[in-house]
Amino acid sequence: MTLWLSGAPIDRQAEVRTRPEALIAQLAHPDAVILPVAGTANFVVRDGEVVRAGIVARAAVDWPEASLVYLGTREGAPMFAAPVPDGEDLTTFPGEFQDLRRIGPALVADDAAVLSYARAMIYWHAKHGFCGVCGHPTQPKEAGHKRICVNPDCATEHFPRTDGAMIVVVHDGQDHCLLARSARFPPNMYSALAGFIEPGESLEDCVVREVFEEVGLRVTDVGYHSSQPWPFPRSIMIGFHARAESRDLKLDQDEIEDARWFSRDYLGDKRQWKDFFIPPRIAVARRLIDDWVAGRVGV
Ligand SMILES: [Zn+2]
Repeated sequence: MTLWLSGAPIDRQAEVRTRPEALIAQLAHPDAVILPVAGTANFVVRDGEVVRAGIVARAAVDWPEASLVYLGTREGAPMFAAPVPDGEDLTTFPGEFQDLRRIGPALVADDAAVLSYARAMIYWHAKHGFCGVCGHPTQPKEAGHKRICVNPDCATEHFPRTDGAMIVVVHDGQDHCLLARSARFPPNMYSALAGFIEPGESLEDCVVREVFEEVGLRVTDVGYHSSQPWPFPRSIMIGFHARAESRDLKLDQDEIEDARWFSRDYLGDKRQWKDFFIPPRIAVARRLIDDWVAGRVGV
């Protein structure tokens, strides 16, 4: 099963980005739509019990063309993301602006993935108005998939950025796995260990380093599981399982409030949980835990 925010049902049509005439045709397409983003809030509409992506017809608004990001086509219809221009009254939209994480589980899964893509692109544009090399303004190019410095002596190209973060369920090779909590978590929630990948480091190197830093364990048999785009604001979570060489913990008190070994039996039987819960099903952490509990990995 596809992870939440993955598998957006969009044909990205990267070739359109560099072909101005193709882009003009998509902008003029009668079915072209825009996914508006206000700050980091996506436009959504309620449809009975569920929430769907909100759209506005491209032909219905005259928002600056340069601010439109071409996402691709969905069932043949060209789809753009755009920031709501300053001065627009959000209350006049036939829906509401919401944070994707807040309404997550209520969203139709395909729509959540599309909104995630839109949010990530608009956030990147909002934060990269100036060149990190010379300080001049930058402007969007290639249908919003690149920005270029306006200083002709610089002309540095800037591309959307995704920060890689690994997340790992450490197990003992038998019937226990390690879950931990940081002080930032909601009370009683335990999850997998996680950390950002540093320059000069492979994903596997990062798993080994972070686990040792956070709980003092040496791990081996690092195995990839799955990944999840996490545009809050610009990450991708890359999920692993790894086997610990011992069970002796030495916690980094700044990062980890508590870490414990939990049995497969305990994790697999909610009736045993007391003052304890794990992340919701939309999170890759949960998938890592559930698949280990089910014996699908790491043994
Ligand atoms: Zn520059």
